Amino acid sequence: VNDTLGHPIGDELLKQAAVRLRDIAGKDEFVSRLAGDEFAVIQRRIKQPRQAELLADRIIAGLSNPFEIDGHTIAIGASVGIALAPKDSRDGAELLKKSDLALYWAKNVGRGGFCFYKPRMDKHLNERRALGNDLRAAVQNGQFELYYQPLLNLSSRRICGMEALVRWHHPRRGMLQPSDFIPVAEESGLIVPIGEWVLRQACIEAANWPKPISVAVNLSAAQFKRGDLLAMTTAALKAAGLESGRLELEITESVLLNDEIWVRNVLCKLRDLGVRLAMDDFGTGYSSLSYLRSFPFSKIKIDRSFVSDITVTRDALAIVQATIQLSEKLGIGTTAEGIETAGQLHLLAAEGCTEAQGFHISRPVRAQEIPALISRYGCHVERPALRVAS
Ligand code: C2E
Ligand code: CA
Ligand code: CA
Repeated sequence: VNDTLGHPIGDELLKQAAVRLRDIAGKDEFVSRLAGDEFAVIQRRIKQPRQAELLADRIIAGLSNPFEIDGHTIAIGASVGIALAPKDSRDGAELLKKSDLALYWAKNVGRGGFCFYKPRMDKHLNERRALGNDLRAAVQNGQFELYYQPLLNLSSRRICGMEALVRWHHPRRGMLQPSDFIPVAEESGLIVPIGEWVLRQACIEAANWPKPISVAVNLSAAQFKRGDLLAMTTAALKAAGLESGRLELEITESVLLNDEIWVRNVLCKLRDLGVRLAMDDFGTGYSSLSYLRSFPFSKIKIDRSFVSDITVTRDALAIVQATIQLSEKLGIGTTAEGIETAGQLHLLAAEGCTEAQGFHISRPVRAQEIPALISRYGCHVERPALRVAS
């Protein structure tokens, strides 16, 4: 709110939120503002945790009603972390720390909910901290490797691209998948150096592949916020000697969430450079459609959750059909991800989807296995459109 509507409105919002909070809590409870947008409520004389739960519910519901300030309708929400005395501690500072941990948990589970403190949260947080420390060393010690998963063009059934998917060879835990460490990397900001390594490495490896095959790299929102993506991309292409038209960047809605002008500027500059942009996990977010209008995408990747149900439920099929028609009208391509059966592949090809990716075609493989994949499927070569003289 501060960034988009200015500090005076942000201040007014805090005041109104505080008033609501005080009304909800009632006159017997103690309400205070800790910092920024964090408030604390001390609920006294309760007999059961259930009473804290009910209060948390009322707070979340109350703060989720939009605020009207200066002609602006502002929707915020709230998450709540709860610690109980004397069960969790008798010490004030300790109780605050534990409710904070529970709050962190509540936010991670999905905003707009509440969580009670549980001892395993300490353990989990410690593990995350340890992983974060290891991650710092991993960047320096070159413990990452890129796997590649091919994308088939559905008209030629040949390979048109490869998606780079990062793996971490952890010295003690063995090979870790992105879901094990990307969230930690995003939270700590280490995603910026890791993402830079991924981009550089992917460009270097792609420069060895037959010309028409492109490489796709996944980006995190933090790379937009904290890194100079444009300079990084230009440098990676140059160092590898890769044509910009062979690089595709995959972006999820989390990057676009605030529809900020500068994000759009960066994306437009990347497109002007010749880099293609794909919208990843399409259909899973809140406003994918409006993003298609305001950002320069050249491709939609239909999320795996729709593809896996396409031969089972009519609604999944309907959504996939509509997405394909939409992208045809917009003049952009579609990739269906997560294809696991021949049935799914046939159906998607029949529906006019342009590219396919999934375990049915190939699992992600190491770089040295790419030549074998290419000789198995061949390379897709773009044919110039046929013109008929009239
Ligand atoms: P994504 O971009 O949606 O990537 C596709 C994920 O689906 C990959 O998981 C891939 O192995 C998996 N997959 C592909 N085909 C199938 C299939 O037929 N069935 C099933 N069940 N799964 C399939 P992976 O490699 O574990 O990556 C997970 C996510 O981590 C990626 O999702 C992407 O969002 C993120 N990620 C991977 N590499 C990077 C990276 O270098 N940078 C960033 N920022 N994120 C990355
Ligand atoms: Ca992707
Ligand atoms: Ca995806």
